[in-house]
Amino acid sequence: MIRAKKKFGQNFLTDESIKRQIIQAIPNDLERIVEIGPGLGDLTQKLVQLSGKIECFEIDSELYEILLDKFASEISQHKLKITNTDALESWHEISRQDYFLVANLPYYVATNMILKALSDSRCKGLVVMIQKEVALKFSAQPSDSEFSALAILAGVRGDVELLFDVPATAFNPEPKVVSAVIRIIKNRNLVDDFELGEFERFLRSAFVAPRKTLLKNLACFCSKSIVESFLAKHNLPLTTRPHELCVALYLKLFKEAKNERRECTNSR
Ligand code: SAM
Repeated sequence: MIRAKKKFGQNFLTDESIKRQIIQAIPNDLERIVEIGPGLGDLTQKLVQLSGKIECFEIDSELYEILLDKFASEISQHKLKITNTDALESWHEISRQDYFLVANLPYYVATNMILKALSDSRCKGLVVMIQKEVALKFSAQPSDSEFSALAILAGVRGDVELLFDVPATAFNPEPKVVSAVIRIIKNRNLVDDFELGEFERFLRSAFVAPRKTLLKNLACFCSKSIVESFLAKHNLPLTTRPHELCVALYLKLFKEAKNERRECTNSR
């Protein structure tokens, strides 16, 4: 019996009906599916039954050896490839070709991995299980109190759905939190790749203190007058909080703030 390693966020999914629901949430006819953290291979087993090619990236070398044994036949038939590596450090391998990401992500790096997949144009979408608290942040709608920079970063790339909750009893060992499965279908690109870093800095500033006003939060990104005239133009009060603006308005405000920054830099 293998012992789950806390440092790798190992909570193995044991509930058959949840595994089935995850598989059913994956779009049909995918050419290439990438699974991060196959663990003991329970989801992998179901993925190889779908059409297409499956590529897995597992950090734990002990699990890697078990997986090589378990899937010897699928590997020899080139239906499955497994690499023993930290997925975050091997993203260039993941994004070698277009892919759809499926994973029961380790909690400790789940947000980073989703952001990486969102900013990667090779990634066409994802179905991932994560901590419910994080799932709510990605899937929240404007004016929900959880609406956050994560929801905006997902919203500029595609449609996000929170599909279902997963209780701790569905895993071994049981995590201390409730999980949830989200699906993101990437069907738009509203921020150019070269501007993404600046857009992320803008959002970090906008949400730096979620309960304070947008006007106050953005003071370190652009001048007060830009935000004031933007709010006035859109009939919004000066007390507007960061979660109260929709994705489209964030994009417009970013454009105005960015232009002002450029003008300031050029006039220096
Ligand atoms: N997919 C399995 C399941 O559903 O039962 C295991 C999921 S477990 C929550 C997370 C898995 O990700 C573990 O197998 C762990 O070793 C692996 N993992 C953790 N960090 C990783 C990383 N940086 N790169 C690749 N795999 C990682």
